[in-house]
Amino acid sequence: MEKDVFCSIIAGDIPSTRLQEDNSFVAIKDIHPKAQHHYLIIPKKHIESIDDVENSDRDLMGDMVLFAQQCAKTLNLEGYKLLVNVGEKGGQEVPHIHLHLLGGEFYR
Ligand code: AMP
Repeated sequence: MEKDVFCSIIAGDIPSTRLQEDNSFVAIKDIHPKAQHHYLIIPKKHIESIDDVENSDRDLMGDMVLFAQQCAKTLNLEGYKLLVNVGEKGGQEVPHIHLHLLGGEFYR
């Protein structure tokens, strides 16, 4: 399987600004922010998209939401959006599942 950009970031082959990390996830700053706070919550396990999630990924998907919640707390966000693009036709550019965490002022 060819490495996607997020696998390379997780491996440390491509630099990123990391907000937080644990054994299963990393949160990085989006290089093209759409809001004052725009982070990507990325599981270290390579799953292409929400469409490829399996029953065995249930715990991981729950943990991903809790990890996003922790990131929002770290950023002191009072409110935020969690967004997922699914598939090329759903606007997904990077074929590695991730949540967008957006907060603060939104850019046009
Ligand atoms: P999506 O369209 O949901 O696949 O979102 C992919 C996001 O990854 C976009 O918002 C990009 O700006 C962001 N992105 C792509 N490459 C990098 C990178 N090297 N570091 C940080 N963010 C990136």
